[in-house]
Amino acid sequence: MTEAALRERPVTSRQIKVGDVPIGGGAQVAVQSMTNTMTYDVEATVQQVYDLNAAGADLVRVSVNGSKALKGFREVVWRSPVPLIADIHFDYRMALGAADAGAACVRINPGNVGSDDRYRRVIEKCQEKGTAMRIGVNSGSVEKRFWDLPKAEALVASALHKVEIAEEMDFFDFKVSLKASHVPEMVEANKRFREYSDAPLHLGVTEAGTKLPGAIKSAAALGQLLPYGIGDTIRISLAEDPVEEIPVAYHILSALDLRHRGPNVIACPSCARTLGFDVIGMAAKVEEGLEHFEDHFTVAVMGCVVNGPGEARDADYGVAGGKDDGVIFSKGQPLRKVGRDEIYDALFEEIAKDDRK
Ligand code: SF4
Repeated sequence: MTEAALRERPVTSRQIKVGDVPIGGGAQVAVQSMTNTMTYDVEATVQQVYDLNAAGADLVRVSVNGSKALKGFREVVWRSPVPLIADIHFDYRMALGAADAGAACVRINPGNVGSDDRYRRVIEKCQEKGTAMRIGVNSGSVEKRFWDLPKAEALVASALHKVEIAEEMDFFDFKVSLKASHVPEMVEANKRFREYSDAPLHLGVTEAGTKLPGAIKSAAALGQLLPYGIGDTIRISLAEDPVEEIPVAYHILSALDLRHRGPNVIACPSCARTLGFDVIGMAAKVEEGLEHFEDHFTVAVMGCVVNGPGEARDADYGVAGGKDDGVIFSKGQPLRKVGRDEIYDALFEEIAKDDRK
């Protein structure tokens, strides 16, 4: 696949809407996460929904795991700044209630809700209310009848069975997720599913783990799917504060050149040529200083003037350290030379001059 073809993602999925957020059909990849508050604690849940939205979440999933949670969910929907997805566990009646409460989408795991008749009742309710659905299949809860199949195939077969039922009922407002915590299995399942269906796909590596390994597993999986048009909305599942998942999602999308939020900081790994300039500390400080910027531009932190400006010639702004001083540069061209202690302030002065910021 050529670089140009990679950039232009093939439109292989149909489009649905979750509230006012388009999913699939060439829309930008939507970022979502899930609250981990008790849903009946309305204040805490609303606060977390706001925090997630402020970090960049387009959609937020909220657990509706019982009648107490459903009661809270009703109020959270009313106060939420983003469309909410109700996550239903074993009780299909929660899906019916959540759709009535104004959920933009209900996420059900058909392997957990019991008979196909219950699943059909949820579809009828979604049709009545104009609610979207996520058919979420997890490797840990594939229906018994598919247990003999290899794991990835079992995920696909289980999802396709539910897709067929929905489409027979003339219901197409659904997306599908096929999740596993084993990256190759998750990737294979999603690739295979795409061969059979144009339903939008929600991607995620389930139980990915703590921040660093979880982010790496997610990037390894999504990097094999998103550039090829497989995947329309993502969630990075981390054993972390869910708000921490959002920047990871954007870092992955930005690295794949699919969607950007905020500046991109690049930095050299440093070597003896730095002559004592603290690349690592400066890169962290610059990253922190750029945190509140929403525009996308690239800032380079390089350890020496010998290689720095040249290697980072694509960067909009950069610093290259020297023995006692440093050079601020833009697109490989020096802007000014400053003392080592002035590097940080001088860099941000140059950035501030740019109208785009
Ligand atoms: S830019 Fe300079 S300091 Fe940084 S790794 Fe390369 S040679 Fe070393």
